[in-house]
Amino acid sequence: MDVVDSKTRSRIMASIRGKNTKPELVVRKALHRRGFRFRLHAKDVPGRPDLVFRKFNAVVFVHGCFWHRHEGCRHATVPATRTEYWTSKFERNVARDDEVRTRLIGAGWRVATVWECALRKAEHVDVAIQMLASWLAAGGKEIVIEERRMADLLARSGLELSDPET
Ligand SMILES: [Zn+2]
Repeated sequence: MDVVDSKTRSRIMASIRGKNTKPELVVRKALHRRGFRFRLHAKDVPGRPDLVFRKFNAVVFVHGCFWHRHEGCRHATVPATRTEYWTSKFERNVARDDEVRTRLIGAGWRVATVWECALRKAEHVDVAIQMLASWLAAGGKEIVIEERRMADLLARSGLELSDPET
């Protein structure tokens, strides 16, 4: 079980509890700059997704890895104290996310999940946004953008840049 100190924890908690968190703002600004228009936390869409793109029938969630329990992610730590409290809270969050996702897909929405860890490094942000933009315009039902795929994606985008003919 990973443990973080209280200072780190309060920083993490501050960044992931509410809406309009920094990772969410990063995604919003970057997509807006690319000409995408969207609504925020639309009340009439299941789960009130962070961003709603009606034109593309798509929603985007920007999930904190800690709060939403990004599976296998090093940022999904468990606090050292009140472990049972946190565990049950986490379980509710995961159950809620699953339910929301099922409802959205059932209602015909396309669902993107951007995990916060994918946005931690500046060089990853561009790749993540590029992925998201392509998916919005021409992608499938679902996409998950996360840190552990970034090395692959960076390599691939580098390849495309250096060798556009293939
Ligand atoms: Zn993560």
